[in-house]
Amino acid sequence: MSDPTRPDAAPEPAGDPIRQLKLTLAAPKRGKPPRHWADLPAGDRTAAVTEAGLPGYRAKQISQHYFEGLSVDPDGWTDLPAAVRHSVREAFFPPLLTRIRQRETDGGATAKTLWKLHDGTLVESVLMRYGLRRGEAASADDPDGARAVGVRSTLCVSSQAGCGMACPFCATGQGGLDRNMSTGEIVEQVRAAAATLAEGSLPGGPGRLNNIVFMGMGEPLANYKAVVAAVRAITSPAPDGLGISARGVTVSTVGLVPRIEQLAGEGIPVTLALSLHAPDDELRDELVPINERWKVDEVLDAAWGYAERTKRRVSIEYILIKDINDQAFRADLLAKALKKRGVWGWVHVNLIPLNPTPGSKWTASRREDEREFVRRLEAHGVPVTVRDTRGREIDGACGQLAASERES
Ligand code: SAH
Repeated sequence: MSDPTRPDAAPEPAGDPIRQLKLTLAAPKRGKPPRHWADLPAGDRTAAVTEAGLPGYRAKQISQHYFEGLSVDPDGWTDLPAAVRHSVREAFFPPLLTRIRQRETDGGATAKTLWKLHDGTLVESVLMRYGLRRGEAASADDPDGARAVGVRSTLCVSSQAGCGMACPFCATGQGGLDRNMSTGEIVEQVRAAAATLAEGSLPGGPGRLNNIVFMGMGEPLANYKAVVAAVRAITSPAPDGLGISARGVTVSTVGLVPRIEQLAGEGIPVTLALSLHAPDDELRDELVPINERWKVDEVLDAAWGYAERTKRRVSIEYILIKDINDQAFRADLLAKALKKRGVWGWVHVNLIPLNPTPGSKWTASRREDEREFVRRLEAHGVPVTVRDTRGREIDGACGQLAASERES
């Protein structure tokens, strides 16, 4: 049988259990997006420039404009002769993302962008600026808190158009998988957000992008090659890449075990987030259908192995769904499963109140059940936080990205 974790693998034979679950690991083949500067590994850029008929030293200039200047408009690159600017645009800067719509909430501090890709496919990304409002962060050396405004910015990026993982609580999963995104399409979301922040068009004035979370549309590890190449472009120091610390990058997965193991060996210390959502196979089979393939014990072993190998603390994502997975006994089971694998320090639990999605019968847990779940985990000594969900008002919160041109 073909390896279903390979994005380019042949379709599953009929009768395969994964098929019956409507899980799609292999992305449909579609016309590839045109090649972009961001698609090229750093080591290939000089050769690509030479192939385009330009002297190799132009590669560094182009990278400086793109990764440092955050520009995709060679017309403004006046250190290049006009004819060169033209060739550079033709060869390396096809428009990959077209901004269709932007919706904002939190006084402009959370912005969801709808992008159209070259073939008309739609995806979304969400930019969130955190920090204290002016005046709230008085300290000895910053009495009016001015410098604390917009201290942290996070971009939630998409790695696939749609998603094949079929999780019943997630809006993206309901529409199925459209196609994989290219490295350039992923990096362009990040570059565009970094440019928006640098221009100061978000409240709080000019700022920098510090965090990238692969928690938008798609299952990043089902588009492994493109995602890892994008992570390299995002984290390589300028001018080879965007220079965002790998510590600020989180890759979130439903738990494709062989890919988690592979990621641990890439030598890029990104944070791994595992969408667990249930500590027992019976419930997880229902909530996260890929569990039919890799069981709770296997994904937790893989997560533990990732922490051990990378020395990065793994984040266990756990949505709280009223009367489904929020019982006290499941908090105890979760703590036990984590504890079994090692001393504290390797893991952190991130509880996410369920965000509403169209057609879903489930709702977020009651406050008292959420509190009890937290209390139980803490009683076992498990580090736990409840996510301060952003963007619900604009359908931009976890699990709500569905990318439609309809005004809603
Ligand atoms: N496919 C990856 C990344 C995308 S989702 C993954 O599943 O990890 C990012 C996080 O949002 C995941 O933990 C996902 O389970 C969670 N999520 C999905 N739908 C949600 C919803 N309706 N409410 C709250 N969180 C949700």
